[in-house]
Amino acid sequence: MMNPFKNALSQLSEALKYLDLDQETVEQLTSPELVTKKELKIKLDNGKTASFPAFRVLFNSALGPGKGGIRFHSQVNLDEVKALSFWMAIKCAVADLPYGGAKGGVRVEVKELTNSEIEKLSRAYARLFAPHIGPWTDVPAPDVNTNAQIMAWMADEYVKQSAKSKGRGVGGSPWATFTGKPVGLWGSLGREEATGRGGLYVLQALIETSPQAVGHAFLAPKRSGLDDPAPGGERRKDARKGSLRPENATVAVQGFGNVGYHFARLAQSAGFKIVAVSDSGGGAKMENGKWKMEEVLKYKRKTGSVVGFPGSELITNHQLLVAKCDILAPSALENMITEENASQIKAEIILELANGPTTSGADKILAKNGVIVVPDVLANSGGVTVSYFEWVQNLSGYRWKLDRVNQELKDQITGAFAGVWQIAKEKKVSLRTAAYILALGKITQAMKLRGV
Ligand code: NAD
Repeated sequence: MMNPFKNALSQLSEALKYLDLDQETVEQLTSPELVTKKELKIKLDNGKTASFPAFRVLFNSALGPGKGGIRFHSQVNLDEVKALSFWMAIKCAVADLPYGGAKGGVRVEVKELTNSEIEKLSRAYARLFAPHIGPWTDVPAPDVNTNAQIMAWMADEYVKQSAKSKGRGVGGSPWATFTGKPVGLWGSLGREEATGRGGLYVLQALIETSPQAVGHAFLAPKRSGLDDPAPGGERRKDARKGSLRPENATVAVQGFGNVGYHFARLAQSAGFKIVAVSDSGGGAKMENGKWKMEEVLKYKRKTGSVVGFPGSELITNHQLLVAKCDILAPSALENMITEENASQIKAEIILELANGPTTSGADKILAKNGVIVVPDVLANSGGVTVSYFEWVQNLSGYRWKLDRVNQELKDQITGAFAGVWQIAKEKKVSLRTAAYILALGKITQAMKLRGV
């Protein structure tokens, strides 16, 4: 299994080729500022005590307070949290947010815990990491297997701790220490679906910027004779002819959690045809795309998986990844698209809604095959963007209407896309390398201005 931090550093080194940075700066960019590890001890419902390793990494705070989710998963380890915090630093800079990058995680098989045990674990995390987080230092949010309710427990615990040691949270509401909270407890309208919605806006921006992007001008500039391509390698032999529009585009979505579900639902409403979805239990295919995503979610909640949804065909997760479709949206975990399966992928756009779904080796194969990879640090930045709006609302004590949230998200993420696209075009690099060039430029400028 590819070490995600090595993957992150290899992506960084691609971008460093285009930047003139001294060795000391590169070292600062490749090592985290603060790594904290604790053991969370909780009493289980059966009276026994259990202990869970927990982490928080603040990777870089040149642009502002650390920002990044907390993951509950059995595979959580320090290298994973480091990689995720590094990607957050890049993502916040790409999205033009005044934040650095951070991430947290707890190694736990969450399915084995009861609701009250999850609450204890969440509160323990907030209590133990309280000295390292805060509205102006490091602001956590949900990630895999954590949700608005978990943020509510954590924020409540943090607020109680703050009240005990007066002065903590100085300069703003301690509620602003966590984002992704329920709307009824200082959360923002539109946050829950923001990552999926942002992904859709990025996809629409890509198609609008270059309507013939897929299988034509973008990938085969020489063949099409157009002079407005971004790089991406050779055109696939089996590429579609002509331009891509939502109504003729097919999409496969890997992962049906917060991100995958909302993306599938919103993309379908925008006219895209969702031909397959999956989760950790397997996949479901419906070539006519005529399923109601809300019904699929209800079915998953009832049975534990999308597998067997009435009217769908059973497929494996591998079959989903290599399914015939125009757009593949990995929305599960890291290292899903690897050197083993990259050459079999038929999609012409990969919209990385998960963090780190593509290994560096796979990236090279995809580029060679002319597959456009819209990198995670851009494609899934909608979540952190609306988290930023939530933080702004908390600090100002003023709640925004949903229309405003969605409009500002659209403006922000479309602007981020345009910035990345411009660099890709100018420097003839992939969208990922362009995003890194953009982000590293901003981070190193802030480091220089601050003299750090
Ligand atoms: P989630 O826990 O809500 O959902 C994860 C989904 O992935 C589940 O449906 C799970 O069954 C599925 N899954 C797990 N292993 C799988 C496998 N091997 N094959 C197929 N499906 C598998 O998590 P989420 O919040 O939707 O996050 C998904 C990804 O998006 C993660 O990489 C996360 O870091 C990233 N992300 C999340 C947010 C956010 O706002 N929640 C923001 C940015 C990025």
